Amino acid sequence: MTVLTTSKPTTDFSSDPMLPVWAEILKIEQEAPGVYTYWLKFTDPEVQKNYSFQPGQFNLLTIPGYGEAALSISSHPNNKEAIGHTIRLTGNVTNAIDRLGVGGKLGLRGPFGSAWPLEQLKGRDIYIAAGGIGLPPLRPVIYQIMDNREDYGKVVVIYGARTPEDLQFTAEYDDWEAKDIEMMVCVDSCDDTWTGLVGVVPMLFYSLRLDPKKSALMTCGPEIMIRFAAYEAIARRVPRDRIFVSLEKNMKCGFGSCGHCQLGPYFVCKDGPVFSYEQIGPYLEVEDF
Ligand SMILES: Cc1cc2nc3c(=O)[nH]c(=O)nc-3n(C[C@H](O)[C@H](O)[C@H](O)COP(=O)(O)OP(=O)(O)OC[C@H]3O[C@@H](n4cnc5c(N)ncnc54)[C@H](O)[C@@H]3O)c2cc1C
Repeated sequence: MTVLTTSKPTTDFSSDPMLPVWAEILKIEQEAPGVYTYWLKFTDPEVQKNYSFQPGQFNLLTIPGYGEAALSISSHPNNKEAIGHTIRLTGNVTNAIDRLGVGGKLGLRGPFGSAWPLEQLKGRDIYIAAGGIGLPPLRPVIYQIMDNREDYGKVVVIYGARTPEDLQFTAEYDDWEAKDIEMMVCVDSCDDTWTGLVGVVPMLFYSLRLDPKKSALMTCGPEIMIRFAAYEAIARRVPRDRIFVSLEKNMKCGFGSCGHCQLGPYFVCKDGPVFSYEQIGPYLEVEDF
């Protein structure tokens, strides 16, 4: 199964894919300690009107003097008012974005990269496995499925975080479940107030009644989690071309020109970040990909 790839921004708001366009931070919402959703709007209304993305794609956000970071889009693809990025503050750029605050302006290039193959997976049971900051790139998938719920079979979100406080988007879980999306949530460690599951994401596959003929997996999170979630699906005979992973790799240009994010024969920025396991599996076996 092929995955949609885009080698340049799908929104033709600039003839030069290296040229950022200004956007303003409208709102900031805390999701977990050190994790915030930044709602952005282009300063040019025409650019805002024409911008569109597909679930799984990312933007490159630029702060002059600090640099650029690849960040997945975590908002609803049909939201024409603002673009949401859910960001863990890790280093130079992400902390500089946070310091801008509401009303601050930053540069945006995008959207770049491949999308989750939602269209091709219609009729399938969908398993979404995410760890930590791996959930934001999958949230647009959940929204798209909710809008077209009858197009899919069983839908299960398997999500793990370090502690209950680190779980993201918790205020939305009831809405997701109301759309017949099963939530399996686990944490690595907790105190006595946590009544949910304790463990790691791949372990939750043990209790799944997964029909390999019907099922597909989409997974994003720490590389070790991705690898083991894929192994668990393969062990249950889900074909490798129905397992999809989204990879994080340091990147610069965003469209396969600079080579920073090369992984085997692929550029993660333009051939990914979403790959089928059939494509990328052999390269994930190599230590320190
Ligand atoms: C396609 C794609 C999508 C992504 N989507 C998201 C997303 O939705 N949300 C999100 O939060 N992240 C996402 N990322 C990850 C994000 O791009 C990186 O975390 C990025 O490096 C952040 O930029 P930064 O300048 O803030 O951090 P950097 O300064 O580049 O730091 C990144 C990491 O390096 C470590 N580090 C920094 N400086 C040092 C040092 N001197 N010594 C040792 N370690 C150091 C930091 O602790 C941190 O772990 C995505 C990445 C890709 C490729």
